[in-house]
Amino acid sequence: MTEQRDPTASSNNSSDQNASDTSSNDTNSLDTGSIDPHVRARAIMEGTERDLSYPPSPEALVVAVYDNHTHLEIADGENPMHYREHLDRASAVGVRGVVQVGTDVLTSRWSAAVAAREPRVLAAIAIHPNEAPALAESGELDAALAIIDELAAQPRVVAIGETGLDYYRTESSAGRDAQLAAFEAQIAIAKKHGLALQIHDRDAHDDIVATLLRVGAPEKVVFHCFSGGVELASVCAERGWYASFAGTVTFKNARNLRDALDVLPRSLLLVETDAPFLTPHPYRGRPNGPYLLPFTVRAIADHLGTDVSMLSAQLSSNTELVYGSWDAEPVVAPGDPWAAQEVPGDPHNLGGVLPEHYPGERGVST
Ligand SMILES: [Zn+2]
Repeated sequence: MTEQRDPTASSNNSSDQNASDTSSNDTNSLDTGSIDPHVRARAIMEGTERDLSYPPSPEALVVAVYDNHTHLEIADGENPMHYREHLDRASAVGVRGVVQVGTDVLTSRWSAAVAAREPRVLAAIAIHPNEAPALAESGELDAALAIIDELAAQPRVVAIGETGLDYYRTESSAGRDAQLAAFEAQIAIAKKHGLALQIHDRDAHDDIVATLLRVGAPEKVVFHCFSGGVELASVCAERGWYASFAGTVTFKNARNLRDALDVLPRSLLLVETDAPFLTPHPYRGRPNGPYLLPFTVRAIADHLGTDVSMLSAQLSSNTELVYGSWDAEPVVAPGDPWAAQEVPGDPHNLGGVLPEHYPGERGVST
């Protein structure tokens, strides 16, 4: 956590190229020029030979859908796309909006700041379960959660997530205790602000469900990148919890996910990319973006034997029920943590401050 670029820290970037963006925090302009498009980069996956080019766009959907979970702040591929380019390419193929998801203080601030300016973006913010152990160890977890609580009050922040438990990455009991503490605290934040909860669940289905039942789930619960089978799907169906399917559902070896689709009511289905990860078949392993979501929608429609446009309409309606509407005019909120800060201006300068362990660098298999 020590090498991250912290937008709240005093910046030594005294260049005045952003001066007009940083001189005041009471502007209503929708200026996006002050936001660095990438504050993370995807780690190179050792030992794999990835094709680093973006796949071609799919045929456009007739009825538009939303990407329930993406990370546009992460640079990936040979020529990382700016978030506006991602959104433009998505719009062109019938992906009309995204939920941009933060995983720590830096990326949560970024997500809230972009949502405040960009009509096609709503934000989810959280401390990811893979970030919680180190923060707890350094005594910073409570302060980080307090910032999430503060950001949760911003108008276009619509979910707390991704939060949950990740037993794949964390085995020590101290680490798992930290994850659980962060998860419970963030469930409480979601309930306090009346926001949806986006859950990260990796190899932890039972404890996630037990925690939700013990402390009481928020009204809207979404299992992001749903990775369970029929059993977890049945629990979701019973409780009215949403299952958001990523590109993994298109993978040949993901029979359990397609079985889960069969037992979930259509009213609980959502779709997402989790970009830049989990690129759908036939482009698995290449950089992902919201514009590739139609591959996943079509694969689900194909499996369910339903019409793509019917399914798209259902998915959009489900999404708006969970997060509300993207239509409201974006605003630069008073107290926007980004508005008064100097933000580096070079779109692709990552400044050699890449984190060693981004939680998403988990390869492409579930
Ligand atoms: Zn994610």
